Amino acid sequence: MSDALKQTREDAFQEPACATNRAKSAAERKKGCAKPLTPGAAAGGCAFDGAMITLQPIVDVAHLVHAPLACSGNSWDNRGSASSGSMLYKTGFTTDLTELDIVMGHGEKKLYRAIREIVEKHDPPAVFVYATCVTAMIGDDIAAVCKAATEAFGTPAIPVDVPGYAGSKNLGCKLGGEMMFRHVIGTQEPARTTAYDINIMGDYNLSGELWQVKPLLDRLGIRILGSLSADARYRQVAQMHRARVTMLVCSHALLGLARKMEEKYGIPYFEGSFYGISDTSEALRTMCRMLVERGADADLIDRCEALIAEEEARVRAELEALKPRVAGRRVLLYTGGHKSWSVVSALQELGMEVVGTSVRKATENDKARVVEIMGTEAHMYENMAPKEMYATLRASGADVLMSGARSQFVALKARVPWIDVNQEKHEPYAGYMGMVDLVRAIDRSLNNPVWEDVRRPAPWDESRAFAGARPRIKDRCPVSGISNDPTDFED
Ligand code: SF4
Repeated sequence: MSDALKQTREDAFQEPACATNRAKSAAERKKGCAKPLTPGAAAGGCAFDGAMITLQPIVDVAHLVHAPLACSGNSWDNRGSASSGSMLYKTGFTTDLTELDIVMGHGEKKLYRAIREIVEKHDPPAVFVYATCVTAMIGDDIAAVCKAATEAFGTPAIPVDVPGYAGSKNLGCKLGGEMMFRHVIGTQEPARTTAYDINIMGDYNLSGELWQVKPLLDRLGIRILGSLSADARYRQVAQMHRARVTMLVCSHALLGLARKMEEKYGIPYFEGSFYGISDTSEALRTMCRMLVERGADADLIDRCEALIAEEEARVRAELEALKPRVAGRRVLLYTGGHKSWSVVSALQELGMEVVGTSVRKATENDKARVVEIMGTEAHMYENMAPKEMYATLRASGADVLMSGARSQFVALKARVPWIDVNQEKHEPYAGYMGMVDLVRAIDRSLNNPVWEDVRRPAPWDESRAFAGARPRIKDRCPVSGISNDPTDFED
């Protein structure tokens, strides 16, 4: 690993704004949050994958993976981030290095030509160049190639020097943000600024979740100036330094970036969530209060309260009709990060009982929120093996499992309905209207008549009285000539 990359990793491990980090001893902090991976053995889930997940939702940028084909194949488009415009981010670009390229040292030349081809064919506002294990280990200097290509073609080529072996996916997300801080943020000025400009960080517009919240911001006159990286354009990242307030949606990965933005550009940040009615209201309140503190008109707070009252009344009226169909049902929640508490509170609002929630990838703050909401830490789980999850589903009498796609087969085996609440899901559940959609999805799954059939014993396991007449055993087999009469075999 190069010295520069080692230093970048260590800086990420020393993050002072991270409560988990602060709670560690100096020696533990040095070890970092996760072990570096074996190059080539990760098949996705590596630091490169994390950087790509964080940055790929910037929709008008060409994302070029400098690697043999598999890195791009493992990581490309593995989340359902939606775009309201350009679809360039959905095109997978890779230099597709072969063994011959590696042996002959053609990597950098191939990369330079690939950038030129992308600029000529697609004319994007920027090309992001991702380093990977192989190209980092053979020593390709992507920063130098990007610099030369930027000068030659006039389109920024941005090095994302986060090869897979640098560490886990989560570390890659952090370093992806760090690359934006070093190379992109602050490189463009907006045509105009207002006292109502915000940044949204850590939201990826999965299945269009940002679009469930944006109308609320529009009604308050709040503008999303910067986004990393929900439905983002390159300029929205380049201009982030002019926003008044940053909202950090997924608190873990981009916390360091938010802190640096505060230190360098004086933009305060807060952690919030758009899952659940009270969390959405709380996020809007905090956002408006902070904007007023930074120069917005004081009436923003009154307008915000009026909007919250109206939206809450509307959504609660809609939920009232659905509540009897889900109230009292038991849920096992297996997700991570801020969702470990924000979805819990949302479900409790509906009168559902949460029998357990996982706190994987959750910060100490997240865990404290879970205890606050659930009243005990007895129902918090770290990683759960499928066997354990199956046993918990059965023992707790859970009526439904809410988790990511990988756990769906455990639920099916336990004959329990399953709802996708992770990044691969196809339905958005953010904001007030998202809550109604989530309850509809729970209702559809829980009360689907198919479960009655699935839980009934298979026909061949049911003991039934024989109702027909068996044919008499007679004669010989016409092919083998063997008698069907068992007495023929007796000596
Ligand atoms: S970057 Fe490395 S760990 Fe990640 S997919 Fe490529 S070879 Fe595998």
